Amino acid sequence: MPENGRVALVTGGAKGIGRAISLRLASLGYRVAINYRSSSQAASSLVDQITASGGVAMSVAGDVSSSDDVKGIFSSVVAELGPVEILINNAGITRDGLLMRMKDSDWDSVIDGNLKSAFICSREAIKSMSKGRWGRIVNMASVVGLIGNPGQANYCSSKAGLIGLTKSVAREYAQRGVTVNAVAPGFVQTDMTDNLPQQVKDDMMRSIPAGRPGSVEDIASAVAFLVSDEASYITGQVLAVDGGMTMV
Ligand code: NAP
Repeated sequence: MPENGRVALVTGGAKGIGRAISLRLASLGYRVAINYRSSSQAASSLVDQITASGGVAMSVAGDVSSSDDVKGIFSSVVAELGPVEILINNAGITRDGLLMRMKDSDWDSVIDGNLKSAFICSREAIKSMSKGRWGRIVNMASVVGLIGNPGQANYCSSKAGLIGLTKSVAREYAQRGVTVNAVAPGFVQTDMTDNLPQQVKDDMMRSIPAGRPGSVEDIASAVAFLVSDEASYITGQVLAVDGGMTMV
């Protein structure tokens, strides 16, 4: 296994898309910190799997929407692996509902969990990235942050906000060797989408020119490219990985 020694933190890295990203980065030789909030079992068995195949990984608990937790996450990672050079802001939740019935708490928890979390983690990570004049931040947006979706005003707003965050931070740190990009997945089968009503899933499938849902590996491949040295001249972009759903 190649070892390039770089340290990557994947938020919500124990399940779904985050798990695939953690596995892919570890297989490419990155040292991976897998953040989780409640999935401790999934996180520790993923660390075991990576370690068994010769990779380097650690798990780190914490709610990334809390500034105090994020400080704790970063100090654990720095102590065990070193400064975070690659940050994947992947953690995300949904609290779907039509606008008229959406509670303040549904709005706040999604904006905090999906957007504020990326802001706090990026603010923490940028210190050492900027000092080291190399860094990669990838924000997990969504195609619905580009085109909207009924029943997801909170979620779509958080993902659209992530795109603004991506472009602003990309502009601030472009001259420090730090790239900041967003990946916008289309419809990917994970726990998050398993609970959608069948009608919604069928409608989604009909809107995908490629005729299939995305796999978690499809998303991991895009992330692996964006964090590589080959992508050093790409910043502030939104890469839709959606089987053609949002092409214009
Ligand atoms: P998932 O299977 O539900 O996984 C989400 C992960 O995020 C979980 O591991 C969860 O950890 C973690 N998480 C949530 N809130 C957290 C917090 N505050 N602090 C720490 N960890 C937190 O969902 P997924 O489908 O893989 O989604 C991953 C990302 O892709 C999300 O940002 C999602 O919005 C985005 N996305 C997904 C799709 C899709 O079709 N699946 C499409 C577009 C975008 P715990 O289990 O430990 O709580």
